[in-house]
Amino acid sequence: MPTAHKHILASLFCSCVSVALVLGQVQSGPNRASGASKSPNAVATANAEAGPWFKARKVADRVWCIDDHGSDNIYLVEGKKKALLIDTGLGVARLNDFVKTLTRLPVTVVNTHGHPDHAGGNYQFKSAFAHPLEFAAIRNTSTAESRKRVAENMIRGATADMVSIEEAVAMPAAELLPLTDGQMFDLGGRKIEVIETPGHTPGEIVLLDSANRIVFTGDNDNALVWLFLPTCTPLEVYLRSLKKLQQRDGEFDTILPGHGLPLPNSFIGEQVNCVEGILNGTCKGDPYKSFAGEALVCRYKSAAVAFDPNNLHVKK
Ligand SMILES: [Zn+2]
Repeated sequence: MPTAHKHILASLFCSCVSVALVLGQVQSGPNRASGASKSPNAVATANAEAGPWFKARKVADRVWCIDDHGSDNIYLVEGKKKALLIDTGLGVARLNDFVKTLTRLPVTVVNTHGHPDHAGGNYQFKSAFAHPLEFAAIRNTSTAESRKRVAENMIRGATADMVSIEEAVAMPAAELLPLTDGQMFDLGGRKIEVIETPGHTPGEIVLLDSANRIVFTGDNDNALVWLFLPTCTPLEVYLRSLKKLQQRDGEFDTILPGHGLPLPNSFIGEQVNCVEGILNGTCKGDPYKSFAGEALVCRYKSAAVAFDPNNLHVKK
């Protein structure tokens, strides 16, 4: 990866993101990220590839997974009256225009969390729902300076649908709208429930479409979850979130994560086992290195969690 890319990504994500997944550096288990696994430097090579930035594939009834050029998954969910856009990706290309090719319905935007590979495209929309604990992180990624850094370092070798540096900097930030646990997005004949699941970030949420038996989980339930960043919650808080979601696993069959391929609902149990092993000392962890920092990693079946051994418990 070019040094410039490393620096921009490190500076963007230091506060911080599943960069290993974004860059495809580390994936484990059978459910490797479709985009991330195709290259060890997905973002870096993405600019050199021809073709449109976004690709969409249908993953459930009126649900599309929009591939943000191998970096992350954006989801579009259609009801009868509205559509819900779950995350906005890096904000490098014209997501707003691309979404219009998939639906004619008015679009509501929601962020699973505030990392720049999930909320980076918010500026292309008037408003976005997010947990208030994510507002500061989202605003950080929404400054003109931040967008300029992304634009200068990543909007190169452009595909036709990419945003120009001038446009990216000039667009106003989206208004942030707060959401709460239990809130429902009523799309008309389809309701999506917000479930607060702090862990990867303090205001991380998942979105449950119980009628269609799917859940959208951002970065809390990927094949490898980063729990070692300074902004992550203590691991025991993350475990509570996993168990909270596990209690609802009779309402979904499929997990649609922010990176990688769909996962079965049994994956949550594997994550619970993985994290319990860390907390009870059964798993001491193997060294784990990334440019965002060093950590330890434990695995259980197809689940893996990279963690900070000094951030296991809530400090009293
Ligand atoms: Zn993240």
